[in-house]
Amino acid sequence: MFCDLHTHSTASDGTLTPQELAAAAQCAGLNAIALTDHDTTSGLNAFETACNDLNIQFVPGVEISCEGENPSGETHLLGYFINSNNAELDALLARQARARTQRVPKIITRLNELGVDVTIEDVQAVAAGAMIGRPHIAQVLLAKGYVKTVQDGFTRYLGRHAPAFLPKPRVKVSQAIKAVHAAGGLASLAHPTQLGCTDDAQLTQFIAQLADQGLDAIEAWHSDHPPTMVAKCQRLAERFSLLATGGSDFHGDAKPIALGSQSVPYDVYERLREAHETRKATR
Ligand code: AMP
Ligand code: ZN
Ligand code: FE
Ligand code: FE
Repeated sequence: MFCDLHTHSTASDGTLTPQELAAAAQCAGLNAIALTDHDTTSGLNAFETACNDLNIQFVPGVEISCEGENPSGETHLLGYFINSNNAELDALLARQARARTQRVPKIITRLNELGVDVTIEDVQAVAAGAMIGRPHIAQVLLAKGYVKTVQDGFTRYLGRHAPAFLPKPRVKVSQAIKAVHAAGGLASLAHPTQLGCTDDAQLTQFIAQLADQGLDAIEAWHSDHPPTMVAKCQRLAERFSLLATGGSDFHGDAKPIALGSQSVPYDVYERLREAHETRKATR
């Protein structure tokens, strides 16, 4: 039995609707799945209903973009078993949404200066009300023939070292952990390989610091993690008395990653659920 605890839907930058994602989980033979859209919980209700209909265990989740220690890396925090009607988490996500929305016109201006003919309206049409992100802009570049693939859009224009890159203001990890806890959830550090740590000592120190701030888990299995990194994250989780989580980071057609491709054992889900239930009982 398997689970996938890291997926995206059309509520952010995935290409499957929450309902289509639940159906895909059934086809992939998954017994439990978490929806972890970027900075939004808007897909969770529809996803829960669809998972219940298909008899798949459902974890309400979110992936929060945080301020990183290393400017070259990405610091993302996964929230699991969150209550999506919590004022503190909602306020944090509203701030993240504002920052994302305000970044788009600046990126468009940069692209226009580079001679690329795209408008804010083009991007809004592709995003169709989703939590907006660079993949939506990349899709417009693709549709207009400026790039050959979404990945190419990141390499040539939107990626961190590309000419139309603009950072977005982000929340501190400690604040994101606090908001996830306020919403009754558990916090897991997403894809540690993307943090941009220069060596193991730096990674260990960062995780020690987050463990002190209340981190509950580390994402060990991830599509960017080779087996050595999975093992390293499992060891770090054990060392700091954290849980290990895992998922594919499925985005539908937006990325060449299959749902369930990390073959995360079902008991990873069960341990997370048990920890959540224990926490709930002691609050
Ligand atoms: P944003 O949330 O706007 O900062 O965009 C980040 C998202 O873009 C990530 O979650 C990925 O889904 C996607 N992304 C980041 N880098 C790349 C890349 N090099 N190729 C394709 N997609 C990417
Ligand atoms: Zn994404
Ligand atoms: Fe991420
Ligand atoms: Fe993700």
